[in-house]
Amino acid sequence: MKSETIAIHAGYEVDPTTKAVAVPIYQTVAYAFDSADHGAALFDLEVEGFRYSRIGNPTTAVLERRVAALEGGVDALSVSTGQAALNYAVLNVSQLGSNIVSVPQLYGTTYTLFAHILPGQGVEVRFAESDHPTAIERLIDDKTRAVFCESVGNPAGNICDIEALARVAHAHGVPLIVDNTVATPILLRPIEYGADIVVHSLTKFMGGHGTTLGGIIVDGGKFAWREHDERFPMFNRPDASYHGLVYTERFKEAAYTARCRSVYQRTTGAVLSPLSAFLLLQGIETVALRVERHVENARRVAECLRADHRVDWVNYAGFAESPYHALAQKYFGGRACSLLTFGVKGGFEAGKKFYDALRLVKRLVNMGDAKSLACHPASTTHRQMTVDEQRKAGVTPETIRLSIGIEHIDDIVDDLDQALHAACPERRSLLAAG
Ligand SMILES: *Cc1c(COP(=O)(O)O)cnc(C)c1O
Repeated sequence: MKSETIAIHAGYEVDPTTKAVAVPIYQTVAYAFDSADHGAALFDLEVEGFRYSRIGNPTTAVLERRVAALEGGVDALSVSTGQAALNYAVLNVSQLGSNIVSVPQLYGTTYTLFAHILPGQGVEVRFAESDHPTAIERLIDDKTRAVFCESVGNPAGNICDIEALARVAHAHGVPLIVDNTVATPILLRPIEYGADIVVHSLTKFMGGHGTTLGGIIVDGGKFAWREHDERFPMFNRPDASYHGLVYTERFKEAAYTARCRSVYQRTTGAVLSPLSAFLLLQGIETVALRVERHVENARRVAECLRADHRVDWVNYAGFAESPYHALAQKYFGGRACSLLTFGVKGGFEAGKKFYDALRLVKRLVNMGDAKSLACHPASTTHRQMTVDEQRKAGVTPETIRLSIGIEHIDDIVDDLDQALHAACPERRSLLAAG
């Protein structure tokens, strides 16, 4: 089936006992065993079923099957936030002294996790000079356990060449982990281009209404953990923390998710609540429709800003002059994402005035909401970084990041126009004419 249909139906059949058509919220911690033997079989993962909601829950399981189907994966693990998903996704392939190699254009908190938190746990993260595959390849060595990128960098808006990065990673026997939050599986399915693990902050476009935090790790099921036993013994050797379970034997192509659930979710518990899973599922039902409108509105906004005298620069992959235009054509069929950045003439001060004058467009740090949102990364999401680190992440002092919502385009443009007027009162508006 196509994504529009999968988003509405995958992972759930009408409940056999109640005939409920909407996904029920299974607000329960535990599940009764038929007998001691049944309980033992569940704990040995020999029979399918639920035992305790830290490890699995019927409502979150629907979400996991649905997002796995949308991404074309074999299995998925839902967690409490996108950050928890990133943490688990990396730890699941790491060991003390190992490293991962990452592109430099990252979401601010992911950068902090990689640069400051994981090293304290014995996992080094090597940041490449750019998102170019040769820059990545240069940093891979025998201690490397994964290559990491955001398919579309937040907020840099760079588009990673997933196919080329997967080729480089696989040539060195390591998986490619992709944060696909900005693109969504509606615009891009990284697994089809060779990615092995796909991570999402469901908080953004997938949930889509700015109500609910959530994250998910999708397993492409194709990486040959067994063939690379020297790097990934944790999937192929008996797990002492789970009475000798061998994940690749028991779970075959879904070994990665099974270990992530049995080790990290079970023992550190960044669990998504059933109510949150339900709310995220409501959002996902309309994600295809929303993304279409987000994309169309963003194209109109980008064109208006580009034509406006008061705007210094616009970074939007849908423009022919964007360095990422060819990749936008290849991966998104020209449908560039609805996240764009721009700078107002007059630098930091004018940018601040613009930002403070917004009325409809909300000032906050979020994206992918039905509402249009604006963020000033240098003073918020990327505040902890040095100016040099900011520049590498695609942030300059005046950068404004817009996440274009699904309101009527005229209302969005009107608000941007009046805010530009507040920032640059002496300059004539072209924007309203666009
Ligand atoms: C928001 C975001 C995250 C973090 O997700 P949370 O759900 O807020 O923890 C990670 N990666 C990207 C690209 C994001 O935009």
